[in-house]
Amino acid sequence: MRVVVIGGGVIGMASAYELVKQGHEVTVLEAGTVGGGASRGTAGWICPADSGPVAAPGMVLQGLRWMLHADSPLRIRPRASLPYLGFLLGMAQRCNADDFRAGLRANIALFGDSMETFDAWQQEGVAFEMQADGLLIALLGRDNYEHHLHDLDIVRDAGLDPVALEGDAVREHEPALSDRVHGGIFFPHERHIRSETLAPGLAAAARARGVEVRERTALEGVVRDGRRVTALRTSDGRIPADAVVLAAGVWTERLARLFGVRLPIEPGKGYSVEYAQAPVRLRSATSFTERKVVGTPLGNALRLAGTMEFAGYDPTVDPVRAAAILRGPAEFLRDWTAPEPDAPAWAGFRPMTPDSLSIIGRLGAHDNAYVASGHGMFGITMAPATARAVVTMVETGRVPAHLAPFAPDRFGARDTVARLRRLRAR
Ligand SMILES: Cc1cc2nc3c(=O)[nH]c(=O)nc-3n(C[C@H](O)[C@H](O)[C@H](O)COP(=O)(O)OP(=O)(O)OC[C@H]3O[C@@H](n4cnc5c(N)ncnc54)[C@H](O)[C@@H]3O)c2cc1C
Repeated sequence: MRVVVIGGGVIGMASAYELVKQGHEVTVLEAGTVGGGASRGTAGWICPADSGPVAAPGMVLQGLRWMLHADSPLRIRPRASLPYLGFLLGMAQRCNADDFRAGLRANIALFGDSMETFDAWQQEGVAFEMQADGLLIALLGRDNYEHHLHDLDIVRDAGLDPVALEGDAVREHEPALSDRVHGGIFFPHERHIRSETLAPGLAAAARARGVEVRERTALEGVVRDGRRVTALRTSDGRIPADAVVLAAGVWTERLARLFGVRLPIEPGKGYSVEYAQAPVRLRSATSFTERKVVGTPLGNALRLAGTMEFAGYDPTVDPVRAAAILRGPAEFLRDWTAPEPDAPAWAGFRPMTPDSLSIIGRLGAHDNAYVASGHGMFGITMAPATARAVVTMVETGRVPAHLAPFAPDRFGARDTVARLRRLRAR
């Protein structure tokens, strides 16, 4: 089958790679360069055990408080747009324990045995850097620590073996932590990668198997025959297609409109900064949880990532927020002085959805067009599972039952009204 994948980030490239392995003739359209979007400067965590939605209990109040501070982890820039207001309302409605737990469960189930796929990719010659050191959620406050223990049953049921470390136990585990840290939760099976190596690694391996990766080629239009997409119009001519996969990260929202579909995806801008020589050595990837900053050791280097800014497609780095990321580890680490990093901060747009779950399924009423996007904070983590789902949909023309929580049509007005009713009844 001639399959055209739109978008050369981790989701598009993982999908293209898995499709060509099944013998399909695959073309990838990438408006810029492979891996140049959100997939580049991420924290690189492969973290099913920590894949709960952003919309968590207490986040509405916390978010309002944060809005008063320019350097807070969350910023919501006001915008007079109905879809944007709908998105924010949808997020606010889901800031409760039931939705949070359902989201975490769905993400863990989708992830499934993806660690094996990451291993398989390396064995097959996909070149990317990966470390299997686990990850530590460090928490300053006793309340926060106890709150995090609540949802560990879901993680435990999935066989991810969380280890709760209170008091000095957490410092024995990670000697760099300060006395201010109340406790931590260690997930031993989690991993991390150097994220800018994954999409290019997959692209090289996909090209070696015959995938045509067309960089600087943007999707511009769709040619249809009834319910089937027959070709795509691009900045570099027309490309025939038997099946189409829209995997353009945050830009999926705009491109889906070419297919006559509206999807609630908003850019959630995040930053990362890197020290070529880590000022403090961490044993594993670590979350400085209350500051919403994470640290990823990458060989001798250390990358810090954080901040969530709903400010449309504005790519600029706000120096106040970048400085807040550098201060993030201060209370958590004994010897952290927030030194200047070696390079300017990188910014990327997370493709956020109101429930923080990906959008994977059929694209509108088309028989042969699919969407794989909206991965928010977890696109690296979910790349293998998404690619497997894409292969199944393309080959069978059906959407498997396990993708129900990720259905593109789950955000309708009927859903909003039902949620408002449930909230009133609480
Ligand atoms: C600071 C930060 C830290 C993060 N940390 C993690 C983490 O630790 N773990 C994790 O799992 N996730 C993390 N993420 C999230 C992750 O980066 C995203 O979920 C993921 O990269 C999304 O991948 P994608 O392929 O969908 O999108 P992208 O990588 O953005 O790729 C989409 C591609 O589509 C292309 N495109 C756009 N328009 C067109 C067009 N018209 N035609 C053709 N192509 C087009 C773009 O050029 C782009 O290359 C982080 C994100 C940020 C910002």
